[in-house]
Amino acid sequence: MYIDIKGNKRQKVGLHMHTSVSDGKLSPEETARAYKSQGYDAIAITDHWAFGEYGNFEGMTIISGAEYNIGGHATEIGVYHILSLFMERKPNITREDDAQRIIDGVHEVGGLAVLAHPAWSLNTPEMIMALRDIDGTEIYNTVSARMQSFRPDSSLIVDMLAGRGVTFPLLATDDAHYYEGIDNGVSYIMAECESNSPEDIRRAIVEKRFYATQGPEIIMTREGNKFVVDCSPVSHIYFASNASWARRATHGEGLTHAEYTTHEDDRFVRAFVVDAEGRQAWTNVVLL
Ligand SMILES: [Zn+2]
Ligand SMILES: [Zn+2]
Repeated sequence: MYIDIKGNKRQKVGLHMHTSVSDGKLSPEETARAYKSQGYDAIAITDHWAFGEYGNFEGMTIISGAEYNIGGHATEIGVYHILSLFMERKPNITREDDAQRIIDGVHEVGGLAVLAHPAWSLNTPEMIMALRDIDGTEIYNTVSARMQSFRPDSSLIVDMLAGRGVTFPLLATDDAHYYEGIDNGVSYIMAECESNSPEDIRRAIVEKRFYATQGPEIIMTREGNKFVVDCSPVSHIYFASNASWARRATHGEGLTHAEYTTHEDDRFVRAFVVDAEGRQAWTNVVLL
């Protein structure tokens, strides 16, 4: 448990990682130990097509999870990786099902269905908008940058969706597989809740009471048409929206505050920061 810059309790949560149960290098216990040693309050172990139950590792919550991936290699046909969290039991789905059936099957067992790494999968806004009832998407996926390819960052897709009035809770995850020191303990969420129980963390995600981060703290509040970011000391603070030409970036040393007054054409606002070490943090999207 952590206390943020506003005095609220926060839980450090990793929501996407693989173990030797599928294509990860470490055993489930070694994975849990690696995250526990980096101060995590909760993790979800999300092996490919392998349902992982709720559990506890030395006080750290293990959230029930799996990653149900379909589509092989041809992204233009449709590659979908559905990160499935908080399921009460194994869902009734198969590798032959389409993405919508997987999302529906995850919901049938009480889970949240999150679209993993849309940039890596080259999911277009049209493909994503054709799916019903997505509970979230990743805005950043560590392994896609460090080990796999060069498309870790889905913020462009997030902004194209938000410009059309569509948004979901935005998660940052590691998707750790290799555990060579660079794909784990990097990207996570800080959930605003009293405890690290699965129920508290789930509610914080659904209600967007969290920020995604690689270290910096970021909290965005709204006063009418003015958006305010308060953060731990960073070098860059950005507000993103659909409107072109608006001035939305602040640069300097040790910045902890920035403001943005919306333009009449703005349909959404979100914010992100970058610290002196290049680590980022992201707010959720607010639709106007
Ligand atoms: Zn995946
Ligand atoms: Zn994965």
